Amino acid sequence: MFDSLSGKLSGVFEGLSKRGKLSEDDVAEAMREVRLAMLDADVALPVVRDFTNKVRERAVGAEVLDSISPGQAVAKIVNDALIDALGGAGAVPLTLSAPAPIPFLMVGLQGSGKTTTSGKIALRLTNRERKKVLLASLDVQRPAAQLQLQQLAERAGVASLPIVPGQQPVEIARRAMEVGRREGYDVVILDTAGRLSIDEALMQEVRDVRAATSPAETLLVVDAMTGQDAVNTAQRFNEAVGITGVVMSRMDGDARGGAALSMRAITGAPIKLAGTGEKLEALEEFHPERVAGRILG
Ligand code: GDP
Repeated sequence: MFDSLSGKLSGVFEGLSKRGKLSEDDVAEAMREVRLAMLDADVALPVVRDFTNKVRERAVGAEVLDSISPGQAVAKIVNDALIDALGGAGAVPLTLSAPAPIPFLMVGLQGSGKTTTSGKIALRLTNRERKKVLLASLDVQRPAAQLQLQQLAERAGVASLPIVPGQQPVEIARRAMEVGRREGYDVVILDTAGRLSIDEALMQEVRDVRAATSPAETLLVVDAMTGQDAVNTAQRFNEAVGITGVVMSRMDGDARGGAALSMRAITGAPIKLAGTGEKLEALEEFHPERVAGRILG
């Protein structure tokens, strides 16, 4: 997984003593390579600095065993630290322990993949967790948005809230929860309106819906391909409405995944799921160890 970085790092350690403890100079040299690899993977600069400082502390004085080269030893320390920074080994599951119907609030910018992800999560919970899921679109901004979600729900074979023209987002959310209670749904997924950019009206709308429904999850959907912008988006949404988790869409693209590391470091919210294609089945648990490998290239 970290072969490529350890390859680069072995160059750094060439000519250095191959055994014993890593010195401050050895590590400083190696950290320059790590910094370049991370910047190349689109990790935000302050996050790179913070990360390499931590890794430097861990690596200086570390014992290099006979069986591995110093390059491999440092690459392993970097890889382990990266996995930790991405949330540790294993994926963080969605919260399903609240009393039914459990509201999930989906937030994000227009075009981030929010509606598709709502459908993907509904399908996943239906198939894997055997949950009865209701999808509801609160997007009254775009005329076709509610219809889009309804069609998506039909494709996924899950229920969607009947559309009542003229209702406002908070009213729709309350109605969805009422239907959820009355008809015995386990999870109600509320897909909020997206905007092309973050504005106060959008944030207020999300806060109002949240106050009306007390969601168990407020999931931010961000497009992994947007790199640094995705990080800014996450920071602003987190400050304004508080997020409990992130779904990174378009992880099937060639984005190196640096945004995932920045996002986790800056918001503290776990990345729970990754979108890996346009199909409704294309949703996976977020695996820190896989993304670490991708960042290290
Ligand atoms: P919204 O405006 O945020 O609700 O975005 P949509 O859900 O309408 O998605 C916008 C476009 O991105 C659609 O064409 C989706 O099929 C596509 N999309 C969503 N998630 C993914 C993903 O994980 N991978 C790829 N390749 N495309 C995606």
